[in-house]
Amino acid sequence: MARIDLVDLAHSYGGNDAPVESFALKPVTMTWRQGGAYALLGPSGCGKTTLLNLISGIVAPSSGQILFDGADITPLSTQKRNIAQVFQFPVIYDTMTVGQNLAFPLKNRGVPKADIDARVKRIADLLDLTPYLDRKATRLTADAKQKISLGRGLVRSDVAAILFDEPLTVIDPELKWQLRSKLKALHRDLDLTMIYVTHDQTEALTFADTVVVMHDGRVVQSGTPAELFDKPAHTFVGYFIGSPGMNIVPAMVSGHEARIDGHTIGLHRNYGVLPAGAKIEIGVRPEFVNVAAPASGLLSANIERIDDLGRVRFARVRIGDAKFAARVPPGFSVSDNTVGLVFDPSHVHVYADSRLVEGV
Ligand code: ATP
Repeated sequence: MARIDLVDLAHSYGGNDAPVESFALKPVTMTWRQGGAYALLGPSGCGKTTLLNLISGIVAPSSGQILFDGADITPLSTQKRNIAQVFQFPVIYDTMTVGQNLAFPLKNRGVPKADIDARVKRIADLLDLTPYLDRKATRLTADAKQKISLGRGLVRSDVAAILFDEPLTVIDPELKWQLRSKLKALHRDLDLTMIYVTHDQTEALTFADTVVVMHDGRVVQSGTPAELFDKPAHTFVGYFIGSPGMNIVPAMVSGHEARIDGHTIGLHRNYGVLPAGAKIEIGVRPEFVNVAAPASGLLSANIERIDDLGRVRFARVRIGDAKFAARVPPGFSVSDNTVGLVFDPSHVHVYADSRLVEGV
């Protein structure tokens, strides 16, 4: 297992002369620690597969370097990088049995037979493939074939990292949950560095100890699920993570106060100095704004609808032109179209040009 460092790594499919804004991966410098369970999360087209393929060597970068344990491996081929990769669709040998498929990556490297047998048994047990070990892979369901693909990725213990590119897309939803928790358990057992690409936040948050969020070819935040929820570094992270996502509204901010739609709300910290000319917004998660009866000290909003999610209700409201979501406290009955909003100041964040500003 290796620590992986990316140093100013960037990729453009349109050649190096293309403007940086069009790069599939804009320059990124970051570290993936040895033994970490990472999810690489973002919407379709944000550059996740490109970044994964740069790490595995399937794609050569336009610029920058990739280091494994401090050694520059950028010029090395995929094979020499010693990476296991599991793709969205099964990659298996139909003519081989399940057992032969699982053993293949080890046989290829001359691992002794006793070690191969032990390792194949362990992975087959883990993925519930033991009853099928002697069956031809071609006769199995799509779910089972993808499990074999996962097994082939996991069977080697000597890899620098295992990369998963949306590996559960073709899997039945019920089995998806099981496999995800198995992968997590396996990560704990084997201390593997795993990078798991997905566009599904639930999948990312349940699998990973660190979630790396990408947006438009950039890594916009890397943090624990709690950090992404409590303190999004970028408005995109706030909006993309959470259901409903974070409210982001234009505001005038000075000192300990933000003015929204002519109303003042208090802030937990002092924002005395903000970049001149920047687009200032405040971000607050719906969980930290309660609707209340309208009152003179409260920002007022018009209710558009109530979403009852069973355990919690969210009011969808409008403040001027901006849409906003706020929690409806238990027992509060919505009798009026207009409500007041009560903010928890410690959860109101300030953003300048989409980036979090730390107050003092
Ligand atoms: P998805 O979840 O849909 O796979 P992604 O986040 O993995 O998306 P990438 O596949 O890395 O994103 O694509 C990033 C950008 O690079 C997209 O604009 C895509 O159209 C472009 N792109 C990807 N592969 C190629 C390629 N081989 N040639 C040209 N452009 C490409």
